[in-house]
Amino acid sequence: MNQLSLANGFNSADIQPVKLGSKPPSPAYLDKRVIKSQRESKRTRSQRARERLATKEHLSRLAVGLGEVELAHKIERCHSRLSVLTCGRHIARIIPNFTCEFRLCPDCGRRRSRRLQNKYLPAMRGFMLRHKVTPVHLVLTQTHKEENRKQSAKRIKDAFTRLHRNSFWNKYFKDGTWSLEFTKDKNGLHHTHLHIIGFRRKFFDIELLRSEWLAATGDSYVLHLKPITDIAAGLREVVKYVSKPLDIRRFGADDLKEFLGLKKMKMFGTFGEFRDFCKTFEPSDNDAAAVGELESLARDLVEGCACPQCNQPLFDLRMSAKELPQFYEQTESSPPGEVRGS
Ligand SMILES: [Zn+2]
Ligand SMILES: [Zn+2]
Repeated sequence: MNQLSLANGFNSADIQPVKLGSKPPSPAYLDKRVIKSQRESKRTRSQRARERLATKEHLSRLAVGLGEVELAHKIERCHSRLSVLTCGRHIARIIPNFTCEFRLCPDCGRRRSRRLQNKYLPAMRGFMLRHKVTPVHLVLTQTHKEENRKQSAKRIKDAFTRLHRNSFWNKYFKDGTWSLEFTKDKNGLHHTHLHIIGFRRKFFDIELLRSEWLAATGDSYVLHLKPITDIAAGLREVVKYVSKPLDIRRFGADDLKEFLGLKKMKMFGTFGEFRDFCKTFEPSDNDAAAVGELESLARDLVEGCACPQCNQPLFDLRMSAKELPQFYEQTESSPPGEVRGS
C-alpha cells in the first residue's frame, strides 16, 4: 500500500464491483472519486484556502445574479476578517469575524463538519467497544432518472429505510450513520449516493447485500463496501459531503436557485440502534480527550499562551481572508522562528 492510500484509508484495490446476473453499470465513478480524494488530501492548506475563496466568490456572484443580494453580502462577509492566533510558525486558532451559516459556504461547511466529527466520534468508539462491531463504509447508488434533487434524495432514502428495516440488515448490522452525496452528470441527471457508516456484526456475502438493495430499490444493485480501519478517518470521509455537498464551482444560477428551494434538506443523520445509543451516550473523560483534544485546547488559547506545537508564545495576528493563503504558505515553508508578523 502506498502512503496516499494509507493516509486516507482508501485504496482502490479494496473496491471490487461484484457482478449479479446481467452486466452491472460501470463502477468507474467511485474509482475516479478515490483518485480525487487522494488528490485532495495532497493539497496544501494554502491551496485549500485559495479554493475556498474562489468558491465563495463564485457563490456570491451567482447569488447577486439571482437578486439574492443579502445572501451574497453574508457570504462575502463570512470569514472575511480573521483573528489568527499564531506563534509565527504554527496556527493555533482562527477566529472569524462573522459566520454566514449558509449550507454551501465552504468555510461554514468546515466548521459544521468538525462539529459533527467531535459529536459523533466518541459515540462511535463507545458503540464499537460495547457491541464488538466493526465499521464499514457502504456506498449505495440508484439508477438515474429525470427528477429534481429533492425527488432523487427522497427516492434513495426511502429505499434505504426499506433496506435497514429488513431482517437481512438486522442480522448483519447494528445500524450507523448516513450522509447524502449529490453529483450531476453531463446530461444534467442527478446522481445521488448514500454513504453509510455501518457497524457490522459479522461477515456476509456481498452478493446477498446486493440483492437486498435490488429488492429495496427495485432497479439498482450497485453498491460498494469497504472496511474502515481508522474510524476517525472513516467519519471524516463521510462528513466531507456535509461540508461540501456539491461541486459548487461547476454550479450555475439554476443550481443555486434549486438549492435555495430546499434549504431544510438533512444531509447527515444517525439511524437505528446507533441513533438510540447516541441519545444516551455520555463521553467519558478519555473519549473527550481523544477527540476534542486539539479542539478544546485551542478554545482555551489566548495571546501569550505557549504554542501547543513548539511552546513559543502565541500572538494575535489580524488579517483578511485574502491574506490567509499566503500566511499558510509562509508557515508551511518557514524554519522555526522565522515568520513573525506578516
Ligand atoms: Zn460562511
Ligand atoms: Zn508553534
